[in-house]
Amino acid sequence: MNHKQQWKIHKFGGTSVLNSDRYKNVFLIVSSLVPSSRKAVVVSAMKGVTDDLIKTVEMAQHQQESYKNLLESIYQRHCTEIKALLGAPARDALLAVIERDFHELREILRGVWLVRTASNQIYDLVSGMGEVWSAQILNAYFQLQGVKTDWLDARKILVIEKTEQAVVINWRASQENLTRWQKEHDYDLVTITGFVAATVDGTIATLGRNGSDYSASVFGALFDCDEIFIWTDVDGIHSADPRQIPEATILKEMSYNEVTELAYFGAKVVHPATMVPAIKKQIPIWIKNTFNPTCLGTKIFQDAESSAPVKGFSTIDKLSLLNVEGTGMVGVPGVAERLFGSLRSSGISVVLISQASSEHSVCFAIPEEQTEKAQKAIELAFFAEIQQGLIQNVQVTRNVSIIAAVGDNMACSPGTAGRFFTALGRSGVNVRAIAQGSSERNISAVIDTKEAIRALRTVHSAFIVPHQTLSVGLIGPGLIGRTFLRQLKEKQLDLKKGREVDVKIRAIANSKMMYLSEKEIPLNQWEELFAKNAVPLDWNKFTEHLKPSHLPHAAVIEATASSSLTPLYKEWLAQGLHIISPNKKANTDSMDEYLKIRAAAKRYSRHFLYSTNVGAGLPIVQTLRDLIATGDEIKIVQGILSGTLSYIFNQYDGTQPFSEIVKKAKEMGFTEPDPREDLSGQDVVRKLVILARETGMNLEVDDVEVQGLVPSALTAISVDEFMSRLAEMDAPMSEKMKNAQAQKQILRFVATLSQDGKARVGLEALPAQHVFSRVSGTDNIVLFKTKRYFEQPLVIQGPGAGPEVTAAGVFADLLRLSQYLGALP
Ligand code: ASP
Ligand code: MG
Repeated sequence: MNHKQQWKIHKFGGTSVLNSDRYKNVFLIVSSLVPSSRKAVVVSAMKGVTDDLIKTVEMAQHQQESYKNLLESIYQRHCTEIKALLGAPARDALLAVIERDFHELREILRGVWLVRTASNQIYDLVSGMGEVWSAQILNAYFQLQGVKTDWLDARKILVIEKTEQAVVINWRASQENLTRWQKEHDYDLVTITGFVAATVDGTIATLGRNGSDYSASVFGALFDCDEIFIWTDVDGIHSADPRQIPEATILKEMSYNEVTELAYFGAKVVHPATMVPAIKKQIPIWIKNTFNPTCLGTKIFQDAESSAPVKGFSTIDKLSLLNVEGTGMVGVPGVAERLFGSLRSSGISVVLISQASSEHSVCFAIPEEQTEKAQKAIELAFFAEIQQGLIQNVQVTRNVSIIAAVGDNMACSPGTAGRFFTALGRSGVNVRAIAQGSSERNISAVIDTKEAIRALRTVHSAFIVPHQTLSVGLIGPGLIGRTFLRQLKEKQLDLKKGREVDVKIRAIANSKMMYLSEKEIPLNQWEELFAKNAVPLDWNKFTEHLKPSHLPHAAVIEATASSSLTPLYKEWLAQGLHIISPNKKANTDSMDEYLKIRAAAKRYSRHFLYSTNVGAGLPIVQTLRDLIATGDEIKIVQGILSGTLSYIFNQYDGTQPFSEIVKKAKEMGFTEPDPREDLSGQDVVRKLVILARETGMNLEVDDVEVQGLVPSALTAISVDEFMSRLAEMDAPMSEKMKNAQAQKQILRFVATLSQDGKARVGLEALPAQHVFSRVSGTDNIVLFKTKRYFEQPLVIQGPGAGPEVTAAGVFADLLRLSQYLGALP
């Protein structure tokens, strides 16, 4: 037989042979395979048949007569599919076989019904019949298609011994049986029953639930084949469960070890134990999709390529974390043995163990349903120590999950663990315990189950999805908001390519309506889409929509001028959203609220960025922060913080009436619709309060001494009336100007904060050479006089208002955020 081509095994699971059409599909796949190789097809029972057969025994055993109905329905199902698949002679022959088998089953089950008990052997005998029929159906169909072939009844070939724990293959006996069989069945294609076998004494047995994969691997070894194909209903092994991570990718290659690690963590594509014979003989295993046969699938073999450190991620849920702690454990040999020995004798399987070298505590994870049992076992084992206080009671944390990263290459990639835990930290996931074996093939962290999916998404995107993806919602598509969208549109591609940052605007809201989009909103047509699709605003829905779903990070940009959104800030942070805000209202609410927002940001590890609150795009807030963070001492902060007032006093030199200049400023769009909002100095007060709080001062808006420019007679009237009576301001202003000029001074609207906490805002007469005389247009200027910048203050100057620069500042905050979250700088 050596002149022949080598064998390949193709295993088709229950879904691949669900009904007659699927059997046809199996033939199509097999006949399209490389003709030169010889093929052994291992089949499962039709999906659901094994379950149903087991149920008939259970029902008979418990004297539920309806077992008969169930058995009949299994019989009918097979007859129906056979009739749909086969023509007259073959069909009738097979139906006769089936009829005979069911006759026997009826008798066996009647026996069970009578004696009200069923041995494991009876369960095995009955539950394996699905494969016996399935192999014959497929074989008959192959023959009908003109293939010279036969089926192999594994109950006559595969010899096993069953211990309590495992199935042991008798390789010698099995090999002899197979060699004998092959002498009489010299075909290039054979169909083999999966799942079933027999013991040395001829008792029929099975390999255990889902045992057909094992059959494939065992026959792979017996046939000395060079490849095993597991045909299933997925495209291959994914980098993570694709139901939880839509971006999960198919892994082209994996080593046996990697599959073992990953399979343990719920990625149930191939069970590790079933691979053992294949590993021994170094036979590669392919995972292929019956429903998408042209897809390459995953190849599992020893020397799988692993360029990336981490191949995949997985989680196990429904665990408890137990902690045993006490001075009685330090340096005492045998504590671990007693601890885990007590668990072993209670039949508890430990999923993860972690002990620090202080030996002061041991913590471990177990299946949640075994928590009480474990607790009792340990308390009993350490009764004396607990009584004496040498060991504290067992601490239990329920509802935990394990998240694991798996990959052969982690062993030689420093920084992998760092990246893993940094990603978890950045998305605010609390790690309760950690384990990494010295094989370095797996890093596991115990986390709260409610954070498991987010954790999975975060680490997956940190390693597998190259882009730092941000789900962003914009509130307030006004002048700044829409300018930001335009700026983003122009840079979006560069960001993706250059920095691997993928900003997805997925929601836009104004004060009444919102537009939520599952996919990112195309920025060249957001206005049309908003007009067409916006629905009435609902903050809960808005937040829910933005919240990290399949994307690990989300942010809201609050670009309104309203104070009504301030109460939402804490909520957003608590829900996991980062906040970027050019709006000053939240930061100038009460000190109490200000601190609560910061506490929420800290508690939920979220960022709140507002660099545009003072000076728009100018680096004022950031500079102040850097000075403080590096230990400088702020003596005085002084500045012209209003672009409007800057413009007005840069123009006003007494030659023109003050009212004319205000009017002109309003016409040019440099003032608020109601210029009194600027002239009152309130906007400047807010900016000064923000700077003061940044230095650590406890300053409220009302603490600022403000001398506004609006005479009290003009405060309570309409805007139009105010504009018509504006000239009433001319005389007093001209008076001030004359006085100043007489002393060679200039007038500027200045905000000043001194170290002692005094804050004042108002018109000041300054020496003509003062740095504030240098400003022009709508410039802002700030000077920081500090311990380090003492002789010469640090000065920042430039246009401090306008949509372009403000939007750019918001954009810069967004990029800063993505860097904090791990994007390239
Ligand atoms: N039919 C058996 C079961 O469902 C074996 C298999 O499908 O792998 O457990
Ligand atoms: Mg199955």
